[in-house]
Amino acid sequence: MTEFFGHIIDGAEVKSASGATFTSIDPYTGQQWAEIALGDAADAARAVAAARRAFDEGPWPRMGYGARGRILNRLADLIEAHADELGMADTRDMGKPISQSRGNDVPRAAANFRFFADHARLATADALPMDTGHHAYTRFEPAGVVAAIAPWNFPLMLETWKVAPALAWGNTVVLKPAEDTPVSATILGRLAIEAGMPPGVLNVVHGYGPDSVGQALTEDPDVDRITFTGESGTGRAIARAAAGNLTPVSLELGGKGANVVFADADLDTAVEWSIKAIFTNTGQVCLAGSRLYVQRDIYDEFVGRFTTAAQAMVVGDPKQEATQIGPLASEEHYRKVRGYIESIETEGGTIVTGGLGEGWGVLPTIVTGLGQQARCSREEIFGPVAVVMPFDTEADAIRLANDTRYGLNAMLFTENVHRAHRVSAKLRAGTVWVNCFFIRDLRAPFGGVGDSGIGREGGNFSREFFTEPKAVVMQIQAG
Ligand code: NAD
Repeated sequence: MTEFFGHIIDGAEVKSASGATFTSIDPYTGQQWAEIALGDAADAARAVAAARRAFDEGPWPRMGYGARGRILNRLADLIEAHADELGMADTRDMGKPISQSRGNDVPRAAANFRFFADHARLATADALPMDTGHHAYTRFEPAGVVAAIAPWNFPLMLETWKVAPALAWGNTVVLKPAEDTPVSATILGRLAIEAGMPPGVLNVVHGYGPDSVGQALTEDPDVDRITFTGESGTGRAIARAAAGNLTPVSLELGGKGANVVFADADLDTAVEWSIKAIFTNTGQVCLAGSRLYVQRDIYDEFVGRFTTAAQAMVVGDPKQEATQIGPLASEEHYRKVRGYIESIETEGGTIVTGGLGEGWGVLPTIVTGLGQQARCSREEIFGPVAVVMPFDTEADAIRLANDTRYGLNAMLFTENVHRAHRVSAKLRAGTVWVNCFFIRDLRAPFGGVGDSGIGREGGNFSREFFTEPKAVVMQIQAG
């Protein structure tokens, strides 16, 4: 018997109004492992109505940062206590190695709640004594009902990255997880009830995007903010839908991260991080360092070491602690990545190592010989495929790295501090990592330029999106 996971609406776990369900497939076994409520526009409307009521009449927006923070911290405790269950849910839904889901994503989910609870409680706002005899100050008031629409690649971690700041700043939320990874969101909703969150504050509705729950949320006039992470094309559809009600959107979209390795880099560091940058989560990472530009003097040595390290990775059952590379998240996604692999030789490239694996698996794959215009060099593959190209000068590296419609992140490896700052300033990206990758300070802005998104989240950037900043200007009587 597969376990059932419902929607969380108005403080209770419920079935769809229609009674419909769908199943989640474990991509390693190809077997159904969970049954989930399949929502539609009626369920989305029910959840938005509950969130609206909780915002307009309930205690949550009125209880203050300290009281909300205590509940959010209790939720963080419960997430940690349920680390095995939550980690295994994401691993079974999408094949993410358990060392990454339980070892990284679950602690990060708890940290998201703790960080934003503290951030809201400790935040300061401007007080502006004016020389006209007035005094201005800023209030950050909750925006209202937030629709959070999430992708499947870091299910729990990215859902909480949206939900935590929205809740900490006093909003109520309707979360729509990706249809491929629904289970951890229901567990999160159950834990929120257990933590004492009032009914209607965190709702979870399962379903698809177009003509389903996702679209309904983006068109609902009772939704005050839409925060979305997913593909750039979906981001465009959501921006169009949101325009109907002039609903503000925050869009964290796709990427094609450039990773520039200069000849003066520490090669051990560069190889270690370049492996993580492209093969973590089997390459299904918006930030993946999928385009490697390596200075010609060290090109052969780098490719050799990079290949050896890729071949040493443990591929297999994502439920095993030692596994580093699991299957791709679904059969549909596997077919997409296979299409890219098949394009490599047609476009003149060489697969140095990797290629298709067993089942829906793709091995850590390194490709050389492709030009900047090849599909694998330009498009987001969202799989474990690194395209490596040589470059000659610093100016060439900057030009090649910036030659993309995306601009989520870039990495560079050098031991020259002047070059590190100079090149970081010239790379067109929301985040630049120097001699590392994936390290995050939750106070820092996170988001992308170009096709990688609109807006930034993190720290004060999340506050600005999830609140209505208000200026209060007072006249002070002359004494
Ligand atoms: P996706 O765009 O297919 O789906 C994301 C979510 O949007 C899902 O919940 C889906 O049901 C919903 N959706 C789809 N169409 C919709 C519509 N018309 N209206 C409302 N909702 C709709 O993305 P995905 O395949 O789940 O995730 C992979 C993509 O996400 C990649 O492009 C990746 O780069 C990107 N991503 C970006 C970041 C970031 O922070 N910038 C992080 C992770 C993933």
